[in-house]
Amino acid sequence: MFEAKNLKKIYPVKKGEDVLALKGVSITFPERGMVFILGKSGSGKSTLLHLLGGLDKPTEGEIVLDGKSSKDFRDHDWDEYRNRDVGFVFQEYNLLPEFTVRDNIAIALELQKKKPDKETVERILGRVELQGVSGRKPGELSGGQRQRVAIARALVKEPKIIFADEPTGALDAATGESVLQLLKSLSAEKLVIVVSHDREFAEKFGDRVIEIADGTIVSDSAQTPSEGGSAEDVPSGLEESEEA
Ligand code: ADP
Ligand code: MG
Repeated sequence: MFEAKNLKKIYPVKKGEDVLALKGVSITFPERGMVFILGKSGSGKSTLLHLLGGLDKPTEGEIVLDGKSSKDFRDHDWDEYRNRDVGFVFQEYNLLPEFTVRDNIAIALELQKKKPDKETVERILGRVELQGVSGRKPGELSGGQRQRVAIARALVKEPKIIFADEPTGALDAATGESVLQLLKSLSAEKLVIVVSHDREFAEKFGDRVIEIADGTIVSDSAQTPSEGGSAEDVPSGLEESEEA
């Protein structure tokens, strides 16, 4: 299980007031599925993703994965967390431009200290439907294909969680949709956390949508409403039928 507990982040600013970017965010995530973190620009989405992914440390609070709290993490635990437990997909792809698609994946495997054998690379490329372009360099690919390489590179780690920060931000709507479709298919087996400002995408693809504004959660589709629904909705005559 993956949890965020009371995450706070203050960015010190040299001139002027410090920025309170996250004001104490707590979320319990499911084992798998696609969770969207939705919010406007500046609401704290990337800050939250960086803290969840171990790319930055909170000012206060902790993340807990499978019972292990980041409060007990030492440097090598953080390295292991980033290298093994989680994978990242960014808006700007961050691929190695001098290397082919195939080699971008092979290098990612080597960084995992895994053997970059042809079979594994081809299997992963197949998973993201890129076998046909595996000999090309990133500059010879469309935006959607580049993002699929980035997803493949995250997948080679076999991470428990994939984090995606505005993965469709640089793509046209149709291509963005296909990238989200791919992430959605991966979420059958792992937790996929997507940060986005696009409500339409969030509602279409998210199993759960958590909205943040000004560093705080303002709504969470997993939270059942505290009033309405319940008993009144049970058709009359069924309430006490199974007593034995
Ligand atoms: P989002 O991803 O939702 O657009 P961010 O998490 O990037 O929002 O930023 C949240 C707030 O924190 C914003 O007010 C932003 O200006 C501020 N912020 C982000 N990074 C820094 C930083 N390194 N130093 C100071 N302020 C920052
Ligand atoms: Mg952002």
